[in-house]
Amino acid sequence: MNRRLFLSAVAGTACARMLPEALAADAAPERIVPVVKSESEWRAVLTPEQFHVLREEGTERAFTSPLNHDKRKGTFVCAGCALPLFDSATKYDSGTGWPSFYDCIKGHVAAQSEIRTSYYAYSEYHCARCGGHHGHIFNDGPKPTGLRYCENGVAIRFVPA
Ligand SMILES: [Zn+2]
Repeated sequence: MNRRLFLSAVAGTACARMLPEALAADAAPERIVPVVKSESEWRAVLTPEQFHVLREEGTERAFTSPLNHDKRKGTFVCAGCALPLFDSATKYDSGTGWPSFYDCIKGHVAAQSEIRTSYYAYSEYHCARCGGHHGHIFNDGPKPTGLRYCENGVAIRFVPA
C-alpha cells in the first residue's frame, strides 16, 4: 500500500475522481480511523482470494463474481474492514465481467493519481480505512459521473438495505 495515498485518505480525501484537483475540491468532512493489521492478521480474517486482491493488489478472474448481476438494494462494504464503499443505486452492468459502479460513497475510497496508457486512462483505488486494494477507475462510465469503478467482487460484501 502506498503510504502517501493512505495518509491522504485518512485526512479526508473525498470520493475518488480521475484528477487530483477534483480530489482536493471534493473533500469529505468525515474522519476515518485507519484499520491496520499485520500480514498474518489479514490472512487470519480473509480467504486466500480476498487476501490476494486486497493485500497483494490481485484481480479476480472476469465473470466469476456472483455479485456481477446482483440487483438487490443495499450497500457493498469492504471485505477487509466493512467500510461501506458503494451504494447499490450506483451499480450498473458494464459488461466487463466485474461488478461495476459509477460512483462511490463519499470519502470512503482513495484513488491513486491517474495512469495513462496509449488506449485509456485509469486510477487504482483502495479502501480509505484499511488500505485494501479494490480495483480500478476508468473514465468510460455512465452519467452522471462518467466513471466506472471496476470492482473485484471478492473484495466486497453485500449488506441488504
Ligand atoms: Zn477496508
